[in-house]
Amino acid sequence: MAQKTALIVYAHQSPGSFNAAVRDVAQQELAAQGFRVLVSDLYAANFRAESTQDDVIGGLKKPELFQYGEETMHAWMEGRLSDDIVAEQRKVEEAELVIFQFPLYWFSVPAIMKGWMDRVLTQGFAFSLEKIYNNGVFKEKKAMLSFTTGAMKSMFQPDGINGDINIALWPLQNGTLHFCGFQVLAPQIFWSPAHCPSSVRTTMLDGWRARVKGLLAERPLTFAPCELFDLSFQGGFLLLPKVREERESRPYGITTGHHLGKPLPPDNQVKAQQGSDPPDDRK
Ligand SMILES: Cc1cc2nc3c(=O)[nH]c(=O)nc-3n(C[C@H](O)[C@H](O)[C@H](O)COP(=O)(O)OP(=O)(O)OC[C@H]3O[C@@H](n4cnc5c(N)ncnc54)[C@H](O)[C@@H]3O)c2cc1C
Repeated sequence: MAQKTALIVYAHQSPGSFNAAVRDVAQQELAAQGFRVLVSDLYAANFRAESTQDDVIGGLKKPELFQYGEETMHAWMEGRLSDDIVAEQRKVEEAELVIFQFPLYWFSVPAIMKGWMDRVLTQGFAFSLEKIYNNGVFKEKKAMLSFTTGAMKSMFQPDGINGDINIALWPLQNGTLHFCGFQVLAPQIFWSPAHCPSSVRTTMLDGWRARVKGLLAERPLTFAPCELFDLSFQGGFLLLPKVREERESRPYGITTGHHLGKPLPPDNQVKAQQGSDPPDDRK
């Protein structure tokens, strides 16, 4: 059987950091399972975060008005993307599992990792107008966020000072990973490792090691499939009226983002839901 490949996209400046320890655990555990593990160490590689004309080799299609998305889509089709982007795209192509390992910066990924997303996930390579979400390019692949926070867990509860972590995770998990088709596994969150005793950090790493053992068998998070929407420009890509009607009596919205003005389905972006797909709202 062909060897499976995992990619860890890693963003931390310090080899002594807790993020580095988390990355090492995943790398060791996946290798022990027979994976070939690729690591993109973004700071060590001095990965460029900015999306610029330098990402396109050769002439531009429309030099008078540079449009990054258009130009990189053409460059991808014609094999004219810069070498650093192509190298990362190869790794994504080969990987069945992609883990993004990072410290939470401003409720999101550090700029260098955002730059990886902006530059590597080009149109054509990672999505097209027809291939998005559950019909997306990477629908056979799994991806997940694994991150550390400064905040305690309670601060990211719906009644905590930072607000609901499910909302913070929606843009990355739905807007980026699932948009490109990835089946998104529940995030691994290491709450406030800098402010807890060493023994708690060790327990966190042990828990992660145990989780990685069964990672590929996990049920992904639930998102609203494209089939629930009118996928036409005239229809505005809106939820189909019959789906809206069917959901009228349900207590919760469909997902964190598709809340339909109702309470959010509990922990939609944090835990895989049991039951049918799309989420059955825990009736
Ligand atoms: C620009 C910016 C924006 C930020 N925005 C947010 C935000 O929006 N929300 C939020 O919650 N936080 C935010 N933070 C805080 C940030 O998320 C945390 O500082 C970060 O997640 C901590 O992770 P670390 O790996 O850097 O920890 P470290 O400080 O590297 O590690 C914590 C401790 O773990 C120890 N350690 C290392 N290896 C091991 C090991 N093998 N076993 C046991 N212990 C080990 C280290 O020695 C250290 O004592 C932000 C920080 C910055 C700089």
